[in-house]
Amino acid sequence: MIKRWLVRIYGVVQGVGFRPFIYNLASKYQLSGLVGNDTQGVFLEIEGSEEVLNAFVQQIPIVAPPMAVIDKIEIINTELPISMQSGFIIVKSQGAGDKQISVPVDTALCSDCEKELLTPEDRRYLYPFINCTNCGPRYTIIEALPYDRFNTTMKTFQMCPECAAEYNDPTNRRFHAQPNACWHCGPQVSLLDRQKNIIARGIEAIKQAGEFLSAGKIIAIKGLGGFHLACDARNSDVVKTLRRRKNREEKALAVMCKDINTLKAIVQTSIYSEKILQGPEKPILLLPKKDTQLLADEIAPVNPNYGVMLPYTPLHRVLFEFSPPYLVMTSANKTDEPIEYKNDEAVSNLNQIADYFLLHDREIKRRCDDSVATVFRDKLFMIRRSRGFAPLAIKLPEEFSHIIATGAEQKNVIAIAKGKDIILSHHLGDLENEEAYRAFEECINDLTSFLDLKPRLIVHDLHPEYLATKWALEQPVAKLAIQHHEAHIGACMLEHQLAEPVIGIAFDGTGYGYDGTLWGSEVFIGDGKDFRRVAHLLPIPLIGGEKAIREVWRLGYVLQELAGIKEKNANFNNRPEISIFKKMLSNHLNVFLSTGMGRLFDGVAAILNLREKITYDGQAAIELENIAYHSTKSIPLKLDIIQQEKKWFFDWRPLIQQISAYLRKGEAISTLAFGFHLAIANAINEICLLIRNQYGINKVCLSGGVFMNQILLRESVSRLEQDNFEVYWHQTIPCNDGGIAAGQIYLAYLRSEK
Ligand SMILES: [Zn+2]
Ligand SMILES: [Zn+2]
Ligand SMILES: [Zn+2]
Repeated sequence: MIKRWLVRIYGVVQGVGFRPFIYNLASKYQLSGLVGNDTQGVFLEIEGSEEVLNAFVQQIPIVAPPMAVIDKIEIINTELPISMQSGFIIVKSQGAGDKQISVPVDTALCSDCEKELLTPEDRRYLYPFINCTNCGPRYTIIEALPYDRFNTTMKTFQMCPECAAEYNDPTNRRFHAQPNACWHCGPQVSLLDRQKNIIARGIEAIKQAGEFLSAGKIIAIKGLGGFHLACDARNSDVVKTLRRRKNREEKALAVMCKDINTLKAIVQTSIYSEKILQGPEKPILLLPKKDTQLLADEIAPVNPNYGVMLPYTPLHRVLFEFSPPYLVMTSANKTDEPIEYKNDEAVSNLNQIADYFLLHDREIKRRCDDSVATVFRDKLFMIRRSRGFAPLAIKLPEEFSHIIATGAEQKNVIAIAKGKDIILSHHLGDLENEEAYRAFEECINDLTSFLDLKPRLIVHDLHPEYLATKWALEQPVAKLAIQHHEAHIGACMLEHQLAEPVIGIAFDGTGYGYDGTLWGSEVFIGDGKDFRRVAHLLPIPLIGGEKAIREVWRLGYVLQELAGIKEKNANFNNRPEISIFKKMLSNHLNVFLSTGMGRLFDGVAAILNLREKITYDGQAAIELENIAYHSTKSIPLKLDIIQQEKKWFFDWRPLIQQISAYLRKGEAISTLAFGFHLAIANAINEICLLIRNQYGINKVCLSGGVFMNQILLRESVSRLEQDNFEVYWHQTIPCNDGGIAAGQIYLAYLRSEK
């Protein structure tokens, strides 16, 4: 019997070639009807025999386009009036209704487009904005939903007849590819000098940029979600110049490699990491160095890894036809500012850093930094979740709607819950920065308007001084504060959909505790509804407060002083401040207590003479990890656990005594650094055994920024597994403060009345 059905498909189904896919599939099944986008997703009316309709609907998820993520296919009505229409049509987008739709992500150049890009006979040969329904810009060009050309920054470009024909041809790969464009009708590039003179346009601009790069110049390149500063990664002089001009003395620089073979020459890869590197997201991956002769030493000094990626836009790919095969591609910004993303501002603000500017006239609606990840046990281990991943949803087990979580202060990411989705924003940066704070507000506005969401609850950090907290407190809706380290554990639990009692190890730099002191070595037990803090470090006094976080030698000094070490590190003892520090300590003057595990790492790095002051966040701990990779043996160091009343404490004093004694005996710094890591991993294992004995909990969640340390992660996981714990660590949600907003939402969900 002939029927006409109304079917709805939910999920990431717009901007991913879904309508042409349905069109072609329906033609194959000889169904008549229509398909369209609206704010809930894709709707279709299909007419044919019931049997065929059933077979058709079942086939959809099996052969859906690569970028689509189908959440649900719903047959709404099986008794629509028969129309006897012939053929299948695609109808115009409809804007009204409850906005349920997922916002599509930016996707790297696909292999079909890359082939065309490099084919001289193709009409888009070397066209730097080639794209199709399977690839190209999305999130960074969207102004409103539904996702259609007139709602993107492509609206100012009128398609030429050839592009329009592709756009309207349901059998074409560019059917309704919203950013569809070519040399004749689409965005164009131009090369400018510091005086803002245009010195070349079109392919000539890219060619000249490539030649300038080969000649050792620094070029600001407008990409997908912002500007990069690029230079020849093999040329020491220009890398040094870039570091000096950018005021980025030591932090490792990311390198874009021409292709996978070029990349494999400098880092060790696996089948898994190669898949990620070449996948639709193309993040920066931190991978172990292989050949260090090919690149300048200044790229990633003392670091065992390079941060590498492959060209992800056609512009980058074309540039490599004319440039050196390894290019530094570092976010273009002034120190501590967010990445530049507007032509005028970039040319002005980067005037003292870049020699030339490779610009284009496709406007970036919102800045989106490169995502950064590493690989742990053949799974992604996300460090910065942004381009290619934001704003993909993470699923909640049940509906928990109309919630905003404002995240932490640094590495800010916000989250929005709607239906069963948690939408995590792109990386917004450190909110103390004015520009970043503006981006934070814009992002909340954008996402709430995309999703048509009026919040009924705003979740925020407990820290009263965080700007994200202050913003939340000004809003006229209900609020919920979540303690920072509980949110870290919540993020890990969300990733693994846990709601049962766990041991939560949150080792972190800092975070506001319930008692008003700075926490960061929390061992919790609980199920997320509730956590009990059962262990943490003995407090470390920060002499001069915040200053001790940057001047890590103060931490080294205070650790040795409180561990009763007479013969302190010479770097500390010869300083004039010491006598004042002693008074400050004994009188508790301008001394703040911290139980942050990050502070112990920093202090030990200072004792081992690795660093006195840091120039970027986490530097001392990173260098402690880096030197530990050079260790050739292990020595028995131990972080003691003591029990007082019903709580355990990590007593670091004996550990500091051991390290200081070995150091005096001339033990290698790498060996001590490695031994220190093992001592922390052993202490994690030991505390978990104590807790399991007493409370019977066998699941362990590892979270907090300290677990970006791959030695600590590896050693902790393997020890816990040997003792038959079920161990959970982060994968797609960062363990650092980029994951806080996700954890805030999940704990708010677990704590809500259901
Ligand atoms: Zn493509
Ligand atoms: Zn065209
Ligand atoms: Zn944190």
